[in-house]
Parts: sequence; structure tokens; C-alpha cells
Amino acid sequence: MAEESRETRNGLCGICPAGCFVTVTLEKGGLVSVGPQAGTPMGILCRIGRHSPQIVHDPDRLLYPLKRVGPKGKEGTNSSASRWTRRSRPSWRG
Ligand code: SF4
Repeated sequence: MAEESRETRNGLCGICPAGCFVTVTLEKGGLVSVGPQAGTPMGILCRIGRHSPQIVHDPDRLLYPLKRVGPKGKEGTNSSASRWTRRSRPSWRG
């Protein structure tokens, strides 16, 4: 029964810029396992890529931008993080 709800898909690992070809197993929309995609040039995965389901489903994973303010930080959105970054960059104009 559990096997019927599982599906496999090919894609790219997004953990780092290398973008290795992967075959992922999904169950109920969640990532179950990641392996190297057969027939691709390298055909291997690093340890981080192999353990990426643990990274994706880690309960302590950051789900929104945080600004270093006070002991807990300040929650923000992607647009507020973009504003924070623009304000903290030095001005390139004299
Ligand atoms: S498998 Fe490893 S090297 Fe490849 S993209 Fe993922 S994290 Fe980067």
C-alpha cells in the first residue's frame, strides 16, 4: 500500500550550485529519498545531496528570512529581506 503512494521523479539537486542530476522518491508530497539519476554523466551524489531529505524536512529549517535583531531575530518576508540588504550595502555613488 505504501509503495503505491510513492512516486519517483528526475530533477536537479538544489542544495548547491553544482546542480547534480537526481532521482527523487516522493510520498504524500514529501521527499523520501534522493539518488543519482541513472544514465547521467557523473552518476553520483555527494553526502549532502544524498541526505537532502533530512535538510528539507528538518524541523529547525528556516522558512523565512531573519534579521539579526535581539536574541530571537526579526522575522521578515523575501521583499523585506531585499530591502534590508539594499539598505545595508554601501553606496556605490560618491
Ligand atoms: S548532490 Fe551534492 S554536489 Fe550535487 S548539487 Fe547536491 S549538494 Fe551539490
